[in-house]
Amino acid sequence: MKNLIITGLPGAGKGTQAERIVDVYGIPHISTGDMFRAAMQNGTELGKQAKSYMDQGELVPDEVTNGIVKERLQEEDTKNGFLLDGFPRTLVQAKALDKIMSELRKNIDAVINIEVNPDVLKARLTGRIICRNCGATYHLTNHPTKVEGVCDRCGSHDLYQREDDKPETVENRIRVNLEQSKPILEFYSEKGLLHTVNGEIGIENVFSEIQSLIG
Ligand SMILES: [Zn+2]
Repeated sequence: MKNLIITGLPGAGKGTQAERIVDVYGIPHISTGDMFRAAMQNGTELGKQAKSYMDQGELVPDEVTNGIVKERLQEEDTKNGFLLDGFPRTLVQAKALDKIMSELRKNIDAVINIEVNPDVLKARLTGRIICRNCGATYHLTNHPTKVEGVCDRCGSHDLYQREDDKPETVENRIRVNLEQSKPILEFYSEKGLLHTVNGEIGIENVFSEIQSLIG
């Protein structure tokens, strides 16, 4: 049961769990970004096409993306499984993935959805502060400075929040992600492949849950 998809809202801890999974199970971590980079570096026909869209600042069309995914899933290192991350992002891509899998005579075994309450995510994602002087990062609740408003490392008082970490931006990002992922989660739920893991129980416990479902 090792042809896997991992999904979760930004800040849910997907990256950390993905690292653990590929480590323990010895399967490749296939993220969309890495796939594109590899296809472009290797100069494959599809890689060249993707590059020309990206160079023009355009979105890479689905048929090119799907082609790159298909090429990647045919590589030798995926024969004992893989962990897809960041794909599929739309229902159209999910259906295309189904088609690719059946062409390759494979199946998706499980979709692991790491679920964290959006309010908890908001608290995680909005708490980050950065020292403008030395670049040290802190978190208001998880990793605060020893003295409020003063950098532990360099003593600077110039701590700030990035635009991306501001509450309105974070709220918006969470909302957009929830809306986008809903149809995909429904799609896999109907197929009986969706496994939702509570992402609020600590990194170790989340991983144990994942292990027990992968087997
Ligand atoms: Zn500093």
